[in-house]
Amino acid sequence: MSAAKITNEVVYNLATELGFDLVGFAKAELLTNEIQRLREWLNQGFHAGMSYMERNLDKKENVALILEDARSVISLGMNYFNPAEVRLSSGEGKISRYAWGKDYHFIIKEKIELLIERLKFIDSEFNGIGYVDAGPVMDKVWGAKAGLGWIGKNSNLINRNFGSYFFVANIITNFIFQYDVPQPDFCGACTACIDACPTQAIVSPKIVDSNKCISYLTIENKGEIPREFDGKYSEWIFGCDICQEVCPWNKKFSTPTRVEEFYDAPNKKLKFKEVLSMTNGAFKKRFSSSPIKRAKLKGLKRNVLFLIK
Ligand code: SF4
Ligand code: SF4
Repeated sequence: MSAAKITNEVVYNLATELGFDLVGFAKAELLTNEIQRLREWLNQGFHAGMSYMERNLDKKENVALILEDARSVISLGMNYFNPAEVRLSSGEGKISRYAWGKDYHFIIKEKIELLIERLKFIDSEFNGIGYVDAGPVMDKVWGAKAGLGWIGKNSNLINRNFGSYFFVANIITNFIFQYDVPQPDFCGACTACIDACPTQAIVSPKIVDSNKCISYLTIENKGEIPREFDGKYSEWIFGCDICQEVCPWNKKFSTPTRVEEFYDAPNKKLKFKEVLSMTNGAFKKRFSSSPIKRAKLKGLKRNVLFLIK
């Protein structure tokens, strides 16, 4: 299917109007090498308890198993950088920046659906399925293929103009576009993220062992935080931003987001006491539309107990 009326420019204009900052286009081809690397990472057990990452490898490799007549992937980046600074008082813990406000899945999913709807309105032959950080799609891989940035040594997608504080969403579509060229890797000789990681979770450039990553330990992890991490970190109650905070591309180029929703950020830090005395009902009420719900109250309490022991 050719995109006679729906050109790259049309998609770009509609997407940026909706709040996306980055738009790129990649040919929907097999991700043979990327799947091989993912398999090696899984075989090493670096996904820790996230067994869901082992699922749908066939779809991850071949987007045509998701959309039969897939021709392209439109990759979209949305800068979420809220420039507020967080200073902790005693008895408080930090929340990863992406989780300060409303769950980005809600915000972005709605915008993707609107974008698909508008493209269908222009040409009813357009078909697209959108994903944001869920489903059988390798978000960062497609983002890199579509020229949104390069995958840094901290395994985040980094853009020269925004750094890495942006979400990646992808639309698999039956239309053909002009394709972008992947960006070169601009990490160079820098190793700031590897050096700064307090748990040595970046075991080699671009390879993170989730078993050691504070983000995993405080969010997806269902068990206790192992004793080997005692004293390794003292501030993070949900997630960890250290390897992004030290990245020179973020220090220099993080730009305040233009998406209003990301300024409504009531959960930049949490008081230990408040978490420990929270009931399930209060947790649900407060975090039902926040990414923090992912850790569940049990996990959040575990995280606090780890910090204060
Ligand atoms: S998120 Fe934190 S713990 Fe995980 S790799 Fe980055 S610095 Fe290390
Ligand atoms: S801190 Fe340095 S090595 Fe790590 S991702 Fe950023 S530029 Fe690359």
